[in-house]
Amino acid sequence: MGPVWAPPIGPAAPRGLCTDCGVSRMDDPKACGRACQFIKPDYISMEIAVHGRARDIRRVDELHFGPFRRMLRATMKTPLPGAQWSGITTRIAARLLETGAVQAVLTMAPDPADSWRPMPVLVTEVAGMAEVRGMRMGYAPLLALLEPARARGFTRVAVIGIPCQVHALRALEKELGFDRLYVIGTPCSDNTTTENFHQFLSLLAEDPTTITYLEFRADYHVELRFKDGRIKEIPFLKLPISKLPADFFPLTCRTCVDYTNVLADITVGYMGGEGQQWLLIRNDRGEEMMSLLGDEVAVSEPGSKGQRHGAVAGFIKNVARAAGGLPLRGMPNWVRPIVGWLMPRIGPRGLEFARTRVEMKAAETVLHLRRQHPARMRNMIPAHIWTLLKPYGILPGDGESKQA
Ligand SMILES: Cc1cc2nc3c(=O)[nH]c(=O)nc-3n(C[C@H](O)[C@H](O)[C@H](O)COP(=O)(O)OP(=O)(O)OC[C@H]3O[C@@H](n4cnc5c(N)ncnc54)[C@H](O)[C@@H]3O)c2cc1C
Ligand code: SF4
Ligand code: SF4
Repeated sequence: MGPVWAPPIGPAAPRGLCTDCGVSRMDDPKACGRACQFIKPDYISMEIAVHGRARDIRRVDELHFGPFRRMLRATMKTPLPGAQWSGITTRIAARLLETGAVQAVLTMAPDPADSWRPMPVLVTEVAGMAEVRGMRMGYAPLLALLEPARARGFTRVAVIGIPCQVHALRALEKELGFDRLYVIGTPCSDNTTTENFHQFLSLLAEDPTTITYLEFRADYHVELRFKDGRIKEIPFLKLPISKLPADFFPLTCRTCVDYTNVLADITVGYMGGEGQQWLLIRNDRGEEMMSLLGDEVAVSEPGSKGQRHGAVAGFIKNVARAAGGLPLRGMPNWVRPIVGWLMPRIGPRGLEFARTRVEMKAAETVLHLRRQHPARMRNMIPAHIWTLLKPYGILPGDGESKQA
């Protein structure tokens, strides 16, 4: 067997709001009821179980980003080829394999038939980590490989996952019975199906099949890389959003409440990194993983500039006006390039950018659920989301919150 193992996966059970994290394909598909972040998440209890305490909203930034020990701006001194940013995520996992801390890393490889489609795999040798670097768009049943991993005798496992996967993983962690579980989380927002994503790519370039990389950068540009080495940067405001169908982003991804992966031991993103990566080390195990990088990584304090209130308030208006569709901006086309040029210069940056995005996502959750699934609001929306939205006048209505 090679360094990357992709055992067969069973069929998914039909579900409503679902990102097919893999639980419905496990031996007991009913486990979804206990595990799913779209049913009745209890972040306070889960944060206590994982980190020893829930987020403390008196501590700077925990209301927005969840419990953490420290935050860093970071980059691999030698960025890893093929990585989405500098490769901190896959390097941590490689070090866990190298040092014997784990026997396998559960993560997503590119599907051989479509490199943008995520395919769950277990990486069992360091060399295999190079094959999984970079970002795929869409979701795939990552957690369905936990049972095959256990059946193969793996007792120490690392999982790299997006928040909806990590929520379900943590909910089932005890019953899975691994001796050691390391959880490396990435933030996630605005995910969609791989099919929808191909449609988006086809609007961005005449030769979409030659696009090898896409990222929504913290400087308000989308960066595209092509097979021939070309790079194209498109300001967010010039993206062809109006050409996408209203349901381009599934309701799951417009209403999930955990942008920053609060139940991971370490979150590796870019939002607060001002062009570098952004790390949230959340507990002892996160510290242990960080120390495995030694001096391979350069770190500094994250910066913060600008004021988010106006940007978030404007976004909320647009979401409300779009009435369930994509937030189309009522801006004439000729103004867009100018605003696109101004945003990276005057818009929120660093941690303020990350706070901006977290608040925008919180607002989307409330507005979309209120429109499409009001009965779910009470169970799906944790109290801290309402606290985040109070400055914007978004308050829980009758029956929308357990507290109200
Ligand atoms: C759909 C999506 C949306 C994201 N949105 C944000 C965001 O808004 N803000 C932010 O700060 N960060 C976001 N991220 C995370 C970010 O893009 C980088 O993955 C992260 O910063 C790690 O970079 P790296 O160089 O350390 O990763 P690498 O070392 O290149 O490793 C990337 C890891 O992510 C895994 N992966 C790739 N695609 C998927 C997928 N579809 N599902 C699950 N795992 C996957 C790979 O298997 C690999 O293990 C998002 C990631 C995804 C998958
Ligand atoms: S997201 Fe996962 S836990 Fe939730 S319904 Fe789908 S398969 Fe089940
Ligand atoms: S946006 Fe939320 S629901 Fe959608 S894939 Fe990402 S974490 Fe899961």
